Amino acid sequence: MEWGKAICHICGARDGEPVHYQGRPLIKGQFGYEVHPIVCNCGLVYLNPRWSTADYDIFYQQLYDDLYRLEIKPDYGIDGVLKNMAQVWERAAPYFKQPPVNILDAGCGSGHGLRYLGEKIPGAKLAGIEASPECCRTLREEIGVEVVDSDLNGGWTKRCKGQFDFIVMRHVVEHLLDPLITLTRIKNSLSSQGLIYIAVPDMMHPRTVLRDYDKWWEYWFRAVHPYYYCRETLFTTLKMTGLHPLGWGEENEEIWLIAATGPQQGYTVDSQLRLKQLQLLQKLIPQELP
Ligand SMILES: [Zn+2]
Repeated sequence: MEWGKAICHICGARDGEPVHYQGRPLIKGQFGYEVHPIVCNCGLVYLNPRWSTADYDIFYQQLYDDLYRLEIKPDYGIDGVLKNMAQVWERAAPYFKQPPVNILDAGCGSGHGLRYLGEKIPGAKLAGIEASPECCRTLREEIGVEVVDSDLNGGWTKRCKGQFDFIVMRHVVEHLLDPLITLTRIKNSLSSQGLIYIAVPDMMHPRTVLRDYDKWWEYWFRAVHPYYYCRETLFTTLKMTGLHPLGWGEENEEIWLIAATGPQQGYTVDSQLRLKQLQLLQKLIPQELP
């Protein structure tokens, strides 16, 4: 893997305080991959350095399905995907004055979630963005979804400007390497009344009790999540791209929100956020040597 330096998109800093485990920077992430999580001066937790963009592309095309794809995991499977999308729609539906017609699931996997939305919303036209060639085959051949691109940063935004009434990004934003660029593209593909649903893991409430892991941080920190948002850093990121949250929740180690287009704003996070985030990590990750 090739390593590259990142810059905080919120405050522009290039460095931060490494997340520590037993008195040293934490470097072992999920599946044994090396990771370098840091806490920025503004409070954002992110990986720096991280893999190069080219390495991430290769990883998503060749390795992601085997390691992460929910619908092919026997203990989770398609039922889990449907349950997740049922929750998305339950949360989002009250914000629509009329049912959305053009729906995009950005990072839709093999499309079982989109199929669920199609059943719940009569007349919905379903579209997806998905990198996995295997998933794209299922989407086209079995689910009947239009795959608008394989890459969120691909050419689809020119064709799809102002098109979508509802965009779902469930556990996708924490994967984006250039969140401001990609979220601006996504925002520009919303229709005038369009709404976006975003959910990410919550860095202020990480899941620390896990069935398959004794050390929660070896599950939580992973190469495929370059960013670890909390409500403040997520909201700031969205406002910087011109997305305005209408409603949100913090539940089950997750932050979710519904956003519409709004005015673009600058850096506004709480000046105590960095300290709060560092204290939380120091409390939840053992700091003393064995
Ligand atoms: Zn920062």
